[in-house]
Amino acid sequence: MEKVALLIEFKAGRVKKANFGMATLVRRSGKAMCAFVVNDSAAEAQAALEPYGVQQVVAIRSGGPGAAWDPARWARAIAAAMDRFGITQLVGLTTPQGRDLLPRIAAQLDAPLIMDCLEVDLDRQMVKTSRYSGKTVATIRLSGRHFIYGLRGNAVEAQKAPVAAERLSFDDTPGGDGGFEVLETRSDGGEALNLAEADVIISGGRGMKSGENFRLLFDCARLINGAAVGASRVAVDLGWVPYRMQVGQTGVKVNPKVYIACGISGSVQHFAGMKSSGMIIALNTDPNAAILAHCDYYAVADLFDVLPELKRQLTASMSSAE
Ligand SMILES: Cc1cc2nc3c(=O)[nH]c(=O)nc-3n(C[C@H](O)[C@H](O)[C@H](O)COP(=O)(O)OP(=O)(O)OC[C@H]3O[C@@H](n4cnc5c(N)ncnc54)[C@H](O)[C@@H]3O)c2cc1C
Repeated sequence: MEKVALLIEFKAGRVKKANFGMATLVRRSGKAMCAFVVNDSAAEAQAALEPYGVQQVVAIRSGGPGAAWDPARWARAIAAAMDRFGITQLVGLTTPQGRDLLPRIAAQLDAPLIMDCLEVDLDRQMVKTSRYSGKTVATIRLSGRHFIYGLRGNAVEAQKAPVAAERLSFDDTPGGDGGFEVLETRSDGGEALNLAEADVIISGGRGMKSGENFRLLFDCARLINGAAVGASRVAVDLGWVPYRMQVGQTGVKVNPKVYIACGISGSVQHFAGMKSSGMIIALNTDPNAAILAHCDYYAVADLFDVLPELKRQLTASMSSAE
């Protein structure tokens, strides 16, 4: 039976939740699957992925300096592992790590690569992905000997299908650097939930009026389990919040179950990053704001009235649940 590989990502030593949707995608295809874990804990991956039907975990060791994160060496090791295990299809995530690694693997294998896939048909090597700032969804058929896909976070809802997985290992032969050396890796500072993985996102735009006022959004997010805070480009360009929080065409493309836009007008470029959200809720003082025509629910109201009240209600519901 053909085997498809998943490229597993970790955050702070734990398998990221977005990997589970990836495993569900492959399991539904009926193909066997193995998880590639590079220089991280295969035991943690095995425990986390068995409930989602992953039958094999391959611990890949990529040595040399910068072993902790060295995309050039990792790409070479992953391509070699695909060769060793006879794998032609690899699914990863469209995350900062995936964006750095997957194109390198594709280059190593001279393989077609599609990032930000919304759907992947592993039998016919066909994918759906958005194009033209999200105005259209393209269906693309790939041809070649190997195929690399970057799945959008949350594109596939994770479903459990427990199995027992075996653990294998693969050591990449050291030698030859990747043309550069990683001297230092710095965290972007947050324990903040990755936008691409969040089930609920509450975002702010120019209507927030200042960076300090984003505290209102962080307070509400903390009270909603699994929520992250995003922003429009204006809020980023004004220096209120860091770029990693930007949602949109030139920011992160997100796919949460619920997206709450506060003081965001709804430009085409912002929509390009969040239009596939399950439910869109907007808060805006302008009854003619573009976003109101494209959301599921809205309130024409001042966010400085609504957000403190939302925080109060969330706090009250938490204390009554205790
Ligand atoms: C090439 C290109 C790429 C771009 N990429 C992106 C991108 O990735 N992401 C992105 O977001 N933008 C992007 N933009 C910018 C985009 O065109 C818009 O300028 C931007 O999205 C507008 O941000 P905003 O909605 O926060 O601000 P505005 O359009 O100024 O809207 C602010 C809104 O807040 C409302 N408001 C004000 N006060 C309150 C209040 N007290 N309570 C409630 N509502 C209030 C106003 O009614 C208004 O609707 C891009 C632009 C270009 C040209």
